[in-house]
Amino acid sequence: MISTKNVVSSEQLQIELQSLGMQLENLETGASGRQGGAGPSDHKAVQIHGSTIMVPVFNHTSRRSPYFARAANEMGVSSLFKEGEHVGFITFPKQPHFYSHFTSDGVPMWKVAQLHSHNVLATTILQTCIRFFERSTSCQFCAIGQSLKAERTIAYKLPHHLAEVAKLAVEKDGVEQFVMTTGTPNTSDRGAKLLYESVLAVKKAVNIAIQVQCEPPDDFTWFEKLKKAGADSIGMHLEAVTPEVRTRIMPGKAEVSIAYYMRAFEAAVDVFGKGNVSTYLLAGLGDTSEALIAMSADLIRIGVYPFVVPFVPIKGTPLENHGSPSLAFMQSILEPVAEMLVSAGMTSDTLKAGCAKCGACSTLKSFETKAKKIHAV
Ligand code: SF4
Repeated sequence: MISTKNVVSSEQLQIELQSLGMQLENLETGASGRQGGAGPSDHKAVQIHGSTIMVPVFNHTSRRSPYFARAANEMGVSSLFKEGEHVGFITFPKQPHFYSHFTSDGVPMWKVAQLHSHNVLATTILQTCIRFFERSTSCQFCAIGQSLKAERTIAYKLPHHLAEVAKLAVEKDGVEQFVMTTGTPNTSDRGAKLLYESVLAVKKAVNIAIQVQCEPPDDFTWFEKLKKAGADSIGMHLEAVTPEVRTRIMPGKAEVSIAYYMRAFEAAVDVFGKGNVSTYLLAGLGDTSEALIAMSADLIRIGVYPFVVPFVPIKGTPLENHGSPSLAFMQSILEPVAEMLVSAGMTSDTLKAGCAKCGACSTLKSFETKAKKIHAV
């Protein structure tokens, strides 16, 4: 979709866009972007070189970005510039049909779930979190309460809400998978029960691949229950790996030790299988590339996919003015991690569902493709 005149590779361009963001002549271009909420945010889906990636367009970093995209023409194509030099063309996925519909009890469907990338439905089932109310102990990168306060979502998505939206999104918008995350409730199952009820309802309504995401529950038999309900994969997100960084960035969540995550990962891999258990690793928050690579190696060894993403500072969070990781830093991690994933036969395309399969919040998938070509020679 894009032809670059200068010498930057596709991977370099994608990394820079994801780290630096992009200024838009028309913020309404394409499908509505996501602002606030749990996980990566403040971005819009962009199609580039045959890949769909999420690019920050609403945060402070993107306002200072050297990248600028003109308003799309009637064909939906936008010219992309870097420091005034034309570097190619990009397109944006269209607004999905389900955004203009309501659930049977009158909730706008766009408040229940959102289109991520071009074919993924994503929701935060419980829009509150035990770790969020005290900002000093909450995850410093998270904006789960902001979208609720701005009334861009509802506090709890009932199972029938999710089922109705999923059915329509599959039938009208060609959506292929559903990523369900949740704020952590004050229960020892850490949200597994809510996810279980949601998966049951959605799978009864429509055949769609589902990834559930939560903190490790107290009782690992939840993995079996979630799988039986119809979940295809699970994500439990470490985010940061070094003790000092964990305590600084997510003081509450850091109370759950890495050793406990590792035990949960092993139990989950026994149920969901190699690769269908994954974790987010946020690059750019203070962990060194060596630490992130070493943790990735440990995870891959036990069958867990380390989804390494560049940290995106979300507007309104304590880290809103935090810097973004550099191109060299991201490359220094993504290249060896992709190489390890290819060697382990655990690449994005082999997974059943989830962020690692979608891949839009990282360029790891592109690095996997490159590593596969090298392996094939
Ligand atoms: S990688 Fe996950 S969070 Fe990012 S766009 Fe895809 S589904 Fe959404």
